[in-house]
Amino acid sequence: MIGEEIIRCPVCNSDKLEPHSNVVDHFGHKDLFSLSICRTCETLITNPRPTEKESITYYKSNSYASHGDSQGYIFDKVYQTIQTINFSRKRAVLEKYTLHKNHLDYGCGTGSFISYLQSKGWAATGVEPDDKARSIAIERNQGGNIYPSLDQLDKHLRFSSISLFHVLEHVHQLRETMQKIISLLDDNGTLILALPNYNSLDSQYYKDYWAGLDVPRHLYHFSQTSIEQLAKSFGLNIVATHPMTFDSYYVSLLSEEYKNGSKNYLNAFMRGYKSNQAAKKTNEYSSLIYVLSK
Ligand SMILES: [Zn+2]
Repeated sequence: MIGEEIIRCPVCNSDKLEPHSNVVDHFGHKDLFSLSICRTCETLITNPRPTEKESITYYKSNSYASHGDSQGYIFDKVYQTIQTINFSRKRAVLEKYTLHKNHLDYGCGTGSFISYLQSKGWAATGVEPDDKARSIAIERNQGGNIYPSLDQLDKHLRFSSISLFHVLEHVHQLRETMQKIISLLDDNGTLILALPNYNSLDSQYYKDYWAGLDVPRHLYHFSQTSIEQLAKSFGLNIVATHPMTFDSYYVSLLSEEYKNGSKNYLNAFMRGYKSNQAAKKTNEYSSLIYVLSK
């Protein structure tokens, strides 16, 4: 592999990176990738990782789920129902912590959350680097504001909230992107990060088959400790965390397929349920929404 090696932790800048484990790209072509662990902040790092340019090929295999391609009638119906519930939960989080309804969704995919927010009276802007997803987002949000990168935004624009829903783990320029995003928040602005949590019970059960690892598309694998370090390094406070309770089921379903070669719905459901039950005590949900403030 060509790739690039990471010498210092992108989260905390520590050079205490140690080999951790090897993980297969189960979604793609079964290539093997190595993870390093940062001994200072606990972040797991895909290392070496594909360069930004090389990464593009790893998104092309099959249909990358976040881009919302159809996978059959029943699956689509269930997916749409869950998506609607997820959207209303996300909006509830936004409305709990923000005063004004002016949102930026960074990594907005096909723009469905933006459309949803607009239908609820919000001003919503999206940034999506993927051409195919962005063109769908633009079509869906006629006259809406969808941009390929943060640099295309009006320099004077500020947002009351910015979300990265399962996005930050994909971003090569982690610190630069975080810095740009923070500068786009108004003084009382809220930053929402939704991320997989490798300390969840479903992660511990599926180990290197855990779909939340998703190498090499996921460049970083966070725990609550690593997000605390990330927040601290940017002078942000973690105001709250919220569970994403559907993610344990979805991730378990994918993990079952990776591990056993078939979608075992019953096992997946059981693993997802157990993970959520355990997390009621530990807060180690399969995915967490972090609410951060300046
Ligand atoms: Zn670190």
